[in-house]
Amino acid sequence: MGRVALVTGGTRGIGEAICLMLQKEGYTVVANYGGNEEKARAFSERTGIPTYKFDVGSLSACEEAVEKIQADVGPIEVLVNNAGITRDGTMHKMSYEQWYDVVRTNLGSCFYVTRCLINGMRERGFGRIVNIGSINGQAGQYGQVNYAAAKSGIHGFTKALAQECAAKGITVNAIAPGYVATDMVRAVPENVLEKIVAKIPVGRLGEADDIARGVLFLVADDAGFVTGSTLSINGGQHMY
Ligand code: NDP
Repeated sequence: MGRVALVTGGTRGIGEAICLMLQKEGYTVVANYGGNEEKARAFSERTGIPTYKFDVGSLSACEEAVEKIQADVGPIEVLVNNAGITRDGTMHKMSYEQWYDVVRTNLGSCFYVTRCLINGMRERGFGRIVNIGSINGQAGQYGQVNYAAAKSGIHGFTKALAQECAAKGITVNAIAPGYVATDMVRAVPENVLEKIVAKIPVGRLGEADDIARGVLFLVADDAGFVTGSTLSINGGQHMY
């Protein structure tokens, strides 16, 4: 059995592609999701990958779920903090709920899930953590003060944790995807999307597999010298 990998938000979009690529490489993959039962069931039937429903934005839910997952499949050695949401709106109209939901789901989750796993990784002297940030955390985006702040926070979280873990055999890296054709981006109005694609030098949206390939590289056993880095995968849209 390969190393156990937990992918949050693994049942669709980028997370699904990450799960499939890790599975193909021989990892024992488990996927988390938030509430879309239909997608989770279809995903599990298609892939044979077990799914666990819990809110990554709640520490107590993460604690309970991580304990169950590890009892079911063994110690988690690879963690991909991928789950994320958008609740767009300009600052002068943004509600507290829009702000807080995005910050706790996108950034809080990195603390909650990682906190549940970090001591086990330290004790075993091995771990691979990849946090999915965003081009909009690097460059900012109109109407996304909440999302850009949370994603930007992920990049700081990654660098600080990488320093703390380096001597313990644990690497911590981030990927900053550009615009990828998933449900999240399909929710963007078509006229806005056309303008976005026009600004991507390679001339297309990203595919979920473009991001998954980066994850596969960063979690490999022999990638131990890569830590604290942010890999931008964005078709050249933002060179950071
Ligand atoms: P999708 O909306 O396609 O999928 C999101 C996944 O996260 C789903 O599995 C969803 O579960 C899960 N999820 C959402 N909220 C929670 C929660 N509270 N607890 C547990 N799981 C949750 O997203 P993408 O695949 O597009 O995005 C994946 C990541 O990549 C996100 O962090 C996103 O911010 C980031 N990203 C995406 C970009 C893009 O262009 N698509 C660009 C840059 C970054 P369920 O199905 O149950 O709702």
